[in-house]
Amino acid sequence: MRVVIIGGGPGGYEAALVAADLGAEVTIVNDEGLGGHCVLWDCVPSKTLLTSAQAFNTLETAPSLGVHFEGMPGQEVPHYEVDLPTIMRRVRKLALAQSEDISKRVLAAGVRVVLGRGRIVGPRTVEVQPTGDAAGRPERLEGDAILLATGSDPRRMDTAPTDGEVILSSKDVYKLREVPEHLVVVGAGATGAEYATAFLRFGAQVTFVVSRDRILPTEDSDAAMVIEDVFERRGLRTVKNARAAKVERVSDHGVVHLEDGRTIEGSHVLLTIGQVPQTTGLGLEEMGVATNDRGAVIVDGVSRTSVPSIYAAGDVTSKVMLASVAAGQGRTAMWHLLGQAVAPLRWDAVAATIFTDPQIATVGLSEQRAAETGIEVEVDTLPLAGNARAKMSNRPDGFVKLLARPGSGTIAGGAVVASYASDLIAPISAACFNRLTASQLSQAFQIYPSFAGSIQECARRLAVRVQGSYRY
Ligand SMILES: Cc1cc2nc3c(=O)[nH]c(=O)nc-3n(C[C@H](O)[C@H](O)[C@H](O)COP(=O)(O)OP(=O)(O)OC[C@H]3O[C@@H](n4cnc5c(N)ncnc54)[C@H](O)[C@@H]3O)c2cc1C
Repeated sequence: MRVVIIGGGPGGYEAALVAADLGAEVTIVNDEGLGGHCVLWDCVPSKTLLTSAQAFNTLETAPSLGVHFEGMPGQEVPHYEVDLPTIMRRVRKLALAQSEDISKRVLAAGVRVVLGRGRIVGPRTVEVQPTGDAAGRPERLEGDAILLATGSDPRRMDTAPTDGEVILSSKDVYKLREVPEHLVVVGAGATGAEYATAFLRFGAQVTFVVSRDRILPTEDSDAAMVIEDVFERRGLRTVKNARAAKVERVSDHGVVHLEDGRTIEGSHVLLTIGQVPQTTGLGLEEMGVATNDRGAVIVDGVSRTSVPSIYAAGDVTSKVMLASVAAGQGRTAMWHLLGQAVAPLRWDAVAATIFTDPQIATVGLSEQRAAETGIEVEVDTLPLAGNARAKMSNRPDGFVKLLARPGSGTIAGGAVVASYASDLIAPISAACFNRLTASQLSQAFQIYPSFAGSIQECARRLAVRVQGSYRY
C-alpha cells in the first residue's frame, strides 16, 4: 500500500510512523521542517518561551521561603533582567532541534520526505511543487490513499493587517528582540492568555482585550476566574466586552479601535483571534472533498473524508485544535486504511492545557457542557490552598475539580488549576478514558505530600457522595 501525506505536523508525521510500521510505502510532502507549525511555530516555541517566564516563580517565591538575593533582602521580587534575544535564540534552537529529532525518526522508519507544496490532482495523485533548495519542476506522486494534514494558520482580519514589527500574529512574536513596553493582546483564548502570561512575567505592561465578559470564555469558569485574579494581582489590565473593529500602526505604536468607539494604544498589538484550517490551493473543491461552513475538511470517526481514498487529520479538520488530537486522528486514519481494528477517537475524553501560570488542564466533560446538554453529573471541587505541598511551595492558587456520573460514579471529566496542571491531569485523563469510578481513582496510591494528593482527596469526597463510600 502506498500512502502520500500532505503536511508534516503531528497529524502527518505520527500517521507516517504508524503506516510505515505496518509496511506501507509512505511519502510526506511538507513545505517546512518536520513537526510542522506545532514544533516550529506554535506548541514548542510558545512553551519554551513560557519556561523562561516560569523562572519568575522561583524568583517571586524565594524571599518568602527565606532565600534572599544579594543586596535586596526582603524585597518581593529581586531585580532582574530579561535577555529577550537569548530567550528567542533558545526558542528557535530548541524548535529546530525537535524538528531534527522527528526527521531522524521518520527517515529511520523508511519514510520518504519531499520538501514542497502539495496539491491533490486526482483521488490518488498529489502534485508537488518543490520549494527551498530543491525548487524546480513539479513532481507527481501516486498513492493508494492520501492523508491531508495541512494544519491551520492564524486568523487574520482585513482591518488589522500585521506588519511583523508592531502589529503581530502569534508567529511574529519570535521576531521581538526587546520586551514590549506595552503589549495589547487582542483575543481572549488560550494563545492570548499564554502570551499575556509570558510578557507580563518579562515585565511588559499588558492589556488583554476580550470580546466577552471574561477571559477564556470556553474554559471552566472557576478556572478562568483564578487566572483573571492572578492576572489582576500581577498588574494585567483586562478590557472586557470589547470587540476590535480595526487595528492600525500609527508611527511606532499600535492602536486598537473597538466597535464601541473606544481606542486602546500600545507599543505592540498581538492578534490571537483564532486559527483557520489550511485548505487553500489543495484542490479540494475540484476533488469533491467536502468542507464545512468554516472551511474545515469534514471527516468521520476514523478520519475519512467524503472521497474514499482521501483521509484528513489535525487542525485542517478543526475538530479540536490540539497536537495530541492531530496525532490521534492521523494514527486512526492509518490503522483504518491498513486494515487494523480501530475504534473512533474518544471525543468525550480529550485532555487539554492552557499554559498560563498557574496552568489550566481539563479532560472530558466540563461542568458548563454538562449544564448546557442536560447531562447529569455530580461535581466536587477542592481548593489547593489546603494542600500541604501547595503550602510549602507557596503556590496556593488553584483547585481540583472532578465530575462523576450519578449512580455509577464513573469519572466523566475534570479540571486542575495548578502550577503543573499539564502533568497533574494525567491520572484524571486515564480514569476518564478508562471509565474508572471516583472510588477507583481515589484508591490508587499517590505521593504524600504532593499536588496529586488533592486529586485523590477530591475523588474520595466524590465517591462518598456518589457511591456512598470510597471503599469499592
Ligand atoms: C501559539 C499556539 C500554541 C499552541 N500550543 C499548543 C500546545 O501547547 N499543545 C497542543 O496540543 N496544541 C497547541 N497548539 C495547537 C497545535 O499547534 C495544533 O493543533 C497542531 O499543530 C496541529 O497539528 P497538524 O498536524 O494538524 O498541523 P501543523 O502542526 O500545523 O502542521 C501542518 C504542516 O503542513 C504544512 N503544509 C500546509 N499546507 C501544505 C501543503 N499544501 N503542502 C505541504 N505542506 C503543507 C504546514 O506548513 C505545516 O508545516 C497551539 C497553537 C498555537 C497557534
